[in-house]
Amino acid sequence: MALRAAPANHAGIKVGQAFPTALSLEFLVLKKIACLLLIFLCASLARPHSSSQHGDARAAQHKASVSLQASRRDARPLWPGARFNGDDRRRAIYRGMRFIYRGAREPENFKEYGEDLVWWFGVTSGVMRDPALRRMARRMGVELALRWRREHRTVPRGADADTIAELVSGDNAASSLGVRAARLKEQLRFAASRFSAREYLKFDPLTEPPPNDVPEECEYDQTENPRGATVCAVCHRPLAMKSRYDVWYDALITAYIGERARIKLGASYADVLKWLPSLRPYRGREQDANTDFIDSVYAATHVVYTLNDYSRYRLSPRWLPQEYEFLRSSVKEAVAIGDTDMLGELLDSLKSFGLTDADAEVRAGTEFLLARQNLDGSWGDVDEDDFYDRYHPTETAIDGLSDYAWQGERINFPQLKPVLEKWAAGHEATTTP
Ligand SMILES: [Zn+2]
Repeated sequence: MALRAAPANHAGIKVGQAFPTALSLEFLVLKKIACLLLIFLCASLARPHSSSQHGDARAAQHKASVSLQASRRDARPLWPGARFNGDDRRRAIYRGMRFIYRGAREPENFKEYGEDLVWWFGVTSGVMRDPALRRMARRMGVELALRWRREHRTVPRGADADTIAELVSGDNAASSLGVRAARLKEQLRFAASRFSAREYLKFDPLTEPPPNDVPEECEYDQTENPRGATVCAVCHRPLAMKSRYDVWYDALITAYIGERARIKLGASYADVLKWLPSLRPYRGREQDANTDFIDSVYAATHVVYTLNDYSRYRLSPRWLPQEYEFLRSSVKEAVAIGDTDMLGELLDSLKSFGLTDADAEVRAGTEFLLARQNLDGSWGDVDEDDFYDRYHPTETAIDGLSDYAWQGERINFPQLKPVLEKWAAGHEATTTP
């Protein structure tokens, strides 16, 4: 096994180097703890009131807040007549990120959602434009990635397809932060080939369109029932069905993660994407008559994310004219129903298409999000019990408020550009008289 290395982080600590043995992770962790203790010691001398618990985190946050304060102030309104200024937006992002990080440090939250949390910090630290926020995301992400590695050294015996997909996602996310482990990756590559497309994606995109008969997890006992089931096998209560939009974009994310990790999870990304035209044209909310509205918005935002590598590239609206129009027209709906989670996804997707603070949709969405942040730094319903429902709206609000360091106009899977252009040309032919 080899744990591969990361560049030095802001504090000058090497978070990883090439080590040849299984002991390397422990060594790495001890070394990190030693460095962090030193930093913490300095931080506590400077701040006599800080408690000794979570010293590393406090030191990291303290440093981050110092660097935030030290960077250029921006007290100008975000645009002429705006209710908020640049500092308000930056502070809101900072507080949101700290909320997610605090929650991620709770063992039960991390056990349940560790992969997803490491993933978000990894992505965020790579794409945000603000250097101080990037550094803060990276520091938090590396800490969580090291923890994820400690808790996931091998593929458990009897792991099912969902577990494999989660582990591939976590492994990829940790590696993106420079915290690598070759042995787990080898095991995953081997284990992943044992499962089929239907096991990973709930349908086989080679032979069928996204289906309507995949049940939601049972809301009473969290049982996952097989496709086609209408009542729960455990409690015999009726099951709600997932929409085909929901099934499809879940599959799209899984296939995308598989491509990134170079471990096939049931099907290629192109195999799943090819069903996109079957989801078009998109219907609006229709005063809640369209029960698929919310899922179809998330399907469209995840087309954007997987094609722009989660806010790395700009996308031309000409490649995805229907998604562009649909997402743009959905901003007022998300505001109308007060859905900050959806609104956040709409904003960063539209920014990828080239919208800026000069556009009415971005202005309306930004003001709505800044006005709706909770006292604890989160967004969404503070009474939700499931941590997912606390951190996800907070992540998407941060994403929607952020500026990005775009790396040019480009499709993450360049070989698919002709496919998108062919679909777009067909669309133009049907809409142009
Ligand atoms: Zn049940």
